[in-house]
Amino acid sequence: MSSQSSLSDRFKRPSQSIQTRSNHSMFNGHHATVDCPECHRIMVPRVITYYGQPTKSICPFCGATFAKYPSGLERLLARFQTRVLTFAIFKGFVLVAILFGLTFLGSSNGILPESLSEFSLFMTVVFTAVALAEFIFQCVEKMATRFSHESNYYWALLVLVAWASASLNRDLTLPIIILSFAMILRGILVGLAQVIRKN
Ligand SMILES: [Zn+2]
Repeated sequence: MSSQSSLSDRFKRPSQSIQTRSNHSMFNGHHATVDCPECHRIMVPRVITYYGQPTKSICPFCGATFAKYPSGLERLLARFQTRVLTFAIFKGFVLVAILFGLTFLGSSNGILPESLSEFSLFMTVVFTAVALAEFIFQCVEKMATRFSHESNYYWALLVLVAWASASLNRDLTLPIIILSFAMILRGILVGLAQVIRKN
């Protein structure tokens, strides 16, 4: 077996000396070749394009994905949304909801001006819904990270479940619409907070 030199043997990882020498002489420390995370052969990733847009690069030997390139839309969205998984924002929304809730209680008991009553009740409902939306958002993203899946599939599934349950049970339509709006409002609030923090 050892005397046979098959085609695949030639493509196997070259000895360390060749790799080190070529890196030093030709690329001056900048690696032009990489170690495949799957088959561990030294390779130059091949870029896969779709209608002129790079989508990913793969190992030419085993076809494993080496890098994924975000699309133009994804890059735009990435600037507006946070991928940092934290319940800090959720706690913030809950705190605001509690403060408005206390204001409502105070105004309905005559401790605070009664004119605040309607406004504070409205804000309590809004921030409770937004806090719930943020909680769902963090849970879905955490789950996707845990199982190393794309969270987009989870969101698509969630939208499908929401749509199905709304069409099966009419009573659920309104809560689902409110939660959908809360989701959008949550995205805007967190997005704005991100933009303010970066500037
Ligand atoms: Zn490979």
